[in-house]
Amino acid sequence: MIFDVVTIFPDFFSSIVAHGLLKRACAARQAEIRLHDLRDYTDDRHRTVDDRPFGGGPGMVFKPEPVFRAVESLRAEGADFPVVLLSPQGRLFTQSVARELARHPRLALICGRYEGVDERVAEHLATDEISIGDFVLSGGELAAAVVMEAVTRLIPGALGNEASSEQDSFAVPESPEGGGPPAPAGLLDFPQYTRPAEFRGWKVPEVLLSGNHEEIRQWRRRRVLEKTWRQRPKLLQTAPLDPQDQAMLDQIKRAALEPAAPMK
Ligand code: SAM
Repeated sequence: MIFDVVTIFPDFFSSIVAHGLLKRACAARQAEIRLHDLRDYTDDRHRTVDDRPFGGGPGMVFKPEPVFRAVESLRAEGADFPVVLLSPQGRLFTQSVARELARHPRLALICGRYEGVDERVAEHLATDEISIGDFVLSGGELAAAVVMEAVTRLIPGALGNEASSEQDSFAVPESPEGGGPPAPAGLLDFPQYTRPAEFRGWKVPEVLLSGNHEEIRQWRRRRVLEKTWRQRPKLLQTAPLDPQDQAMLDQIKRAALEPAAPMK
């Protein structure tokens, strides 16, 4: 996967490519991050990338020319690939959007700054406009880093242990092993615990220490359904639940409605 990042702050990415998953993926040539300084695509001696907004108002806006030049020079290499404008006004970035982007061998990511980017970039250059959430950052660099990390996790082999991205929250396992997937697709992950088995009096659920794989699987499915229902109920509207999961969920909802046992 090649990421072409168009930014006025290429140095911003130096720590991102020096740690963890992106570092490993770049070293293994599973991912390549190409940084393009927007100022290299300007044509004045001040290397100007911004100007005042037409119609008045505070702040500055990225001019269209350098952005078009930068992306068109990438396109001139012959390949056709999505051009993503990072913007709070874009469609929301989710795991399924990450999966969609991970199917491409190359992506361009345009990072805005200031009051944003001349709208003609969204209208005539970008093929996609993506927001990482309903909040406003000062620049698209953090958003581009989020997109690159989430997409790289989905590149086959990038995680080392393939199964772990299939067990993550929102995952849609593509290769369920014998006994079925660990949890229904598209929901939250089950709670994870590690040693010590007791910490400050809080014990790890007994079943996880039992060694009984089927009971552990059932407990995890139940916790996936329970946690998703409590924290992100909308995810259940689109998740394909089998009859057993549905029965488990109905039972969880009924149990939540039951009055608590009277105190003794
Ligand atoms: N005036 C713009 C608005 O209200 O929609 C916000 C511009 S923001 C201060 C500057 C840049 O940060 C944007 O052009 C975009 O590239 C990036 N950015 C800010 N919030 C973002 C978000 N939630 N998702 C993706 N990019 C974001």
